[in-house]
Amino acid sequence: MKTIGLIGGMSWESTALYYRIINRAVAERLGGLHSARLLLLSVDFDDVVQGQRAGDWDALGALLAEGARRLQRGGADCVLIGTNTMHRVADVVAAAVPLPLLHIVDATADAIERAGCRRVALLGTRYTMEQPFYVERLARRGIDCIVPEADDRDTVHRIIFDELCCGVVAPSSRDALREVVARQLARGADGVVLGCTELPLALGAGDVDAPLFDTTELHALAAVDFALAPAVALAAA
Ligand code: GLU
Repeated sequence: MKTIGLIGGMSWESTALYYRIINRAVAERLGGLHSARLLLLSVDFDDVVQGQRAGDWDALGALLAEGARRLQRGGADCVLIGTNTMHRVADVVAAAVPLPLLHIVDATADAIERAGCRRVALLGTRYTMEQPFYVERLARRGIDCIVPEADDRDTVHRIIFDELCCGVVAPSSRDALREVVARQLARGADGVVLGCTELPLALGAGDVDAPLFDTTELHALAAVDFALAPAVALAAA
């Protein structure tokens, strides 16, 4: 089994989900008392939020790149950035280490393709919904995104940072998120991407009348696939 390197703490509420999903999947696949070989580099989320508010993506890229280097020194075989938003700096992180960076959008696009969806609603932080890095990577896979309108973007962003990242799941917020989702389906979305790793704390498949793509779960399971993939045998000529 290979060692998963996870840059987490963004927020730790979702990192806890990653840790549980990864370990449960390894136990299911290998049986018995197996669990994941994993290194976690957990940042102080307040540093990240300050950088996001200031638009200082260069400093944030440097912070996470240093995290990736520390994971590599610790023996990680791959790197995951455990947040959608911070994939804004995924290229900088990937360039910092000679390890594969398992990209959250790629894991999500694979699942969207498997489900046969072509036009998905994207819910996430304002950065994820409004900046091009996420939508363009999906577009390169032939997947269109519907992004909620401004008021709904504000609502989703506020719920993520003021509540979910603090471990609060208010019933009124769950209702508000369901309404945002319903409006995107009415606008023609054929699937819904929970493009924030805390959103599964508030929304599940039963809340949405369409295929739901839980990026936390999909990303975590991509790491398990990587960790458990058989070593490629060198082909004898
Ligand atoms: N975890 C969230 C995401 O997936 C938001 C926190 C952050 O800004 O990194 O985008």
